[in-house]
Amino acid sequence: MLAPTDTLLLWYRDHGRHDLPWNRTDSPYRIWLAEIMLQQTQVATVLDYYDRFTAQFPQLVTLAKADEGAVLALWSGLGYYRRARNLHHSAQIVQQRYGGELPHRYSALVALPGIGRSTAGAILAQAWGERYPILDGNVKRFLCRYHAIRHWPGESKIERQLWQLAEEYLPLAGQPMRHYTRALMDFGATLCRRTQPRCCDCPLQSQCQGYRQGLSAELPLPKPKPRKVREQRRQQLLLIIDARGRILLQQRPPTGVWASLWSLPQWSGSLEQLSHYLVDSFGVACDGAQPLPIVKHQLTHFDWWLEPLRLRVKGEAQPKLADSPFDYRWVHFDEIGRFGVPAPVKRLLQEATAP
Ligand code: SF4
Repeated sequence: MLAPTDTLLLWYRDHGRHDLPWNRTDSPYRIWLAEIMLQQTQVATVLDYYDRFTAQFPQLVTLAKADEGAVLALWSGLGYYRRARNLHHSAQIVQQRYGGELPHRYSALVALPGIGRSTAGAILAQAWGERYPILDGNVKRFLCRYHAIRHWPGESKIERQLWQLAEEYLPLAGQPMRHYTRALMDFGATLCRRTQPRCCDCPLQSQCQGYRQGLSAELPLPKPKPRKVREQRRQQLLLIIDARGRILLQQRPPTGVWASLWSLPQWSGSLEQLSHYLVDSFGVACDGAQPLPIVKHQLTHFDWWLEPLRLRVKGEAQPKLADSPFDYRWVHFDEIGRFGVPAPVKRLLQEATAP
């Protein structure tokens, strides 16, 4: 894959936004200020704020000595106020530790509040022409498209890959680092835009894998939505068969899962309690219990693990004796079709009663 470096430098010479005030200064302080203001904010919005800010705080020392309230007041309307607080705090640190001169060292820059790897790279490259890569949103977007990377760029593996590419494409020693860094920013902002990239005007079109694969507008992919952990519920169902081979069905409540359908009775007590229940309710005694294979039933909001228990009971069951809010029926298997029985229960009955 051809490195886009030389093409970007040529493009910047002819089409770069050379007139932006922070592109016309060598002041590390002003370059830093612009970098912070431009995070999450459009150039058109930043322009006025940058002018007002540099008019009131023309040098780092004036910012360091200012009241936080005055800094926040000037920032008002730009949003993300943590940026202003970090900027102010960092200016005070620089004033104390480095005599008001922004340090010309990567490790010292990234140690300041609000300065990450990309911002430090942008300051070093633009203020001192150092060979440091940047990887802001514009660059991530461009690289994802240029290489047709079909992933969300925030994924740590992908981010590592993008940093590696950003380093690989750095200009050679002697080439203008400052221009290259600004070229990347301007290219992403004006040509390889977030929406409607201007591929027709792009000098990298013939090399761009995203364009060749028709993916320019789709990349980079958005952050995948976290998959919800589905709720898991367990429920014991009783397949009670009396001496006449009849099965006990219970009508479900009029609301909720399987509303008003006929199913197997649900149970959540011990076997001993169950024996008492059978005697009290139907006049039959339990003659052995056998667990059947568990059935998983997927509902919209949860997975229902149905644990059937086959019970043979001695004697002929009476209709329900005790008071109960539910309706019960003892039915022969071939009568089940007359009842509205949910499909998983029907399947379970077919398997359990198969010869
Ligand atoms: S061809 Fe389109 S997608 Fe590819 S780098 Fe150029 S503007 Fe971006």
